Amino acid sequence: MTDPIFHNEAKALAHIEAQRWPDGEPICPHCGSTHITKMGGKTQAGMFLCNDCRDKFTVRTGTVMERSHIPLHKWLLATHLMAASKKGMSALQMSRMLGITYKSAWFLCHRIREAMDKANDTGPLGGPGKVIESDEAFVGGFKKKRLSGNVAPKKKIVTLVERGGPARSFHITNIDHTTIRAALVTNCHRSSVLMTDDARFYNNIGREFAAHGTTLHSNREFSRGDGHHSNTAENFFSILKRGVIGTYHHWSAAHTHRYLAEFDLRYSTKDKSDTDRANDILKGMEGRRLTYRRIGLLAA
Ligand SMILES: [Zn+2]
Repeated sequence: MTDPIFHNEAKALAHIEAQRWPDGEPICPHCGSTHITKMGGKTQAGMFLCNDCRDKFTVRTGTVMERSHIPLHKWLLATHLMAASKKGMSALQMSRMLGITYKSAWFLCHRIREAMDKANDTGPLGGPGKVIESDEAFVGGFKKKRLSGNVAPKKKIVTLVERGGPARSFHITNIDHTTIRAALVTNCHRSSVLMTDDARFYNNIGREFAAHGTTLHSNREFSRGDGHHSNTAENFFSILKRGVIGTYHHWSAAHTHRYLAEFDLRYSTKDKSDTDRANDILKGMEGRRLTYRRIGLLAA
């Protein structure tokens, strides 16, 4: 927090450039050229000119930061806060910390989650000798009445966790063979050992993996949340549920996948320092875009 990159715009710019171009050589996001001229003058700080395509760019170009008016040091502070907070940061907390409007903070947080999603995309889970746990849970949906008088429905979530490795979660419409199988086969090496509960739909899916083990959950819902589980996927869910209860009270279906990405990335990188995790998120900013118009419409 006391690091000058969180307060000083020039230091923040240098830090983000160093993360994006670790060789110290900017790459043109338009054409991939490395024949770049750094432009001078105060008004053109951070501006580069590509000598091949003659287009200009900054470190924000082609990232979730493009077209954002939020200073880079605030982007860095927000990214660090999202990386470091176990239960997440609400838009209200973020707006107070950064001194920006709620609306700006809300959009900023979602763009950081988008980068967390990219950072968590590290290829298929598992492999020979590795164990993948698949588990489902119902998250959110409190009995606190909204203005409409409706109770938000609980979200069905399936999470896949490689033991000792990353996690990946999905918001699904139905907990059944078709959806769970789709999540598993598109995200996991089938040379892995699959560990699930004793739900019947796992029987056929399990045969597609190197081996399939089941744990009994005779009293599933009741056993949840008492904190006495060594089970990896259940551990993930207990963190997620605490985040949803403590931080994200309203969780619209349109944004659920991005909240899940946030919890997935923190879980996947739990052995890293907050600083290393924040730098992973910065790298994930490249190649992702999220426009307010797009997600604003989804939220409506
Ligand atoms: Zn170029």
